[in-house]
Amino acid sequence: MEEWIIDKINEKGKMSKEEILNEINQRKKQFPELTEDAILRMLATENGIIPIKRDYKINEINQRINHVNLSAKIKRKFPPRTVTVKGREARVMNFVVEDETGEIPVVTWNENYIDKIMGSKDGENISIANAYSKENPFNGMIELNLGSGSAISVNSNTIQKKEETKTEYKKIRDIKDGETADINGFITRLFSDDIYLIRCNICKKKVDVECDIHKDKALSKTLRIRGILDDGVYSSSITFFDRQADALLKLSQSQEIKDKLNDISFGLYQVDVNAKMNKFNDNYSLTARKIGKTEYSLEA
Ligand SMILES: [Zn+2]
Repeated sequence: MEEWIIDKINEKGKMSKEEILNEINQRKKQFPELTEDAILRMLATENGIIPIKRDYKINEINQRINHVNLSAKIKRKFPPRTVTVKGREARVMNFVVEDETGEIPVVTWNENYIDKIMGSKDGENISIANAYSKENPFNGMIELNLGSGSAISVNSNTIQKKEETKTEYKKIRDIKDGETADINGFITRLFSDDIYLIRCNICKKKVDVECDIHKDKALSKTLRIRGILDDGVYSSSITFFDRQADALLKLSQSQEIKDKLNDISFGLYQVDVNAKMNKFNDNYSLTARKIGKTEYSLEA
């Protein structure tokens, strides 16, 4: 399993490492088709962590990794060499960077980067964005490669991380057909009937109990909870599938879904939800893509 995701969840202070591992084991019983890693990623998402690692320390770069951001110092430079590749001359340069955890060789074929590095002094700070690492086939060492999608910045920290943008919520009536938007509102009703969508995987049709042709050979059952989302101005029907339903109801900690839904239909959920709009005439219909913060309270 990816330890760093466990650490991240743990850093958020919500769950201890032991609790995380217990939760994974519990969900494993509930979702036997998922790997432990997938469940861990699900947990991370629920805890507001985007489980994609980008920022690395040098000692963590020990295999092929496609997206590496690194802050380090230039330790040593080797003069660029001119080599002939497929009949054309090109320059390639090697240099070594270090941070508090170690050092790693870097390779670049990019003329601009070669000039930038040549113009730098040893000991200067370097920020590298979107490099990739791989094993050098000749010496077996892991090196960092600066490709066409990479960026470097020497002696400054000008490669800025994307600023976290504040969510802008849209009103239901302003969301166009086919648009995906963030909405903040209340779930005023959840329907406890018909909570599974059953499909025949061979003919891809929705079926009630089983497929006329294929019987129960290839049925898939998807959790689908429908409700009404109200933003204070308009309301719309909204559907939560699988993980979104799970996130909404925190099913994993739960009693039976039906009981839970019956309890909840007396309460109010305040949610931040990213959803896709489908409008048919004047009927609004949303499909939840991602659930942010939820707050559940019983109606006064
Ligand atoms: Zn069928």
